Amino acid sequence: MSEGTDNKSKQCNYQGYEFGAHYPDSICIDGRLWDADYCDSEGNLYDREDDVPCPMCRREDAIKWHAQQFGSGTYKERMKAARLLVADIINNRKTGKFPL
Ligand SMILES: [Zn+2]
Repeated sequence: MSEGTDNKSKQCNYQGYEFGAHYPDSICIDGRLWDADYCDSEGNLYDREDDVPCPMCRREDAIKWHAQQFGSGTYKERMKAARLLVADIINNRKTGKFPL
């Protein structure tokens, strides 16, 4: 259990704001985002059983997921907005500027 080994699973260290907090509350595990606030007192994460795709690992899935979250607009408009949002997220990770 040392840091920096090659023995990592498919983790991309993504942290985001998918669950509505004003601090990073989502963590990527195997391409799926988990709610960091949704855990027991020992810090074990609960499975919310909804598949929230990681925008870094599963870009296309994440776009579809975000498009579903938008309440208004046509499917085309929502997909367009989601595409921009996910592109923004990825870009911000590259530049180190996290959105708030
Ligand atoms: Zn990821």
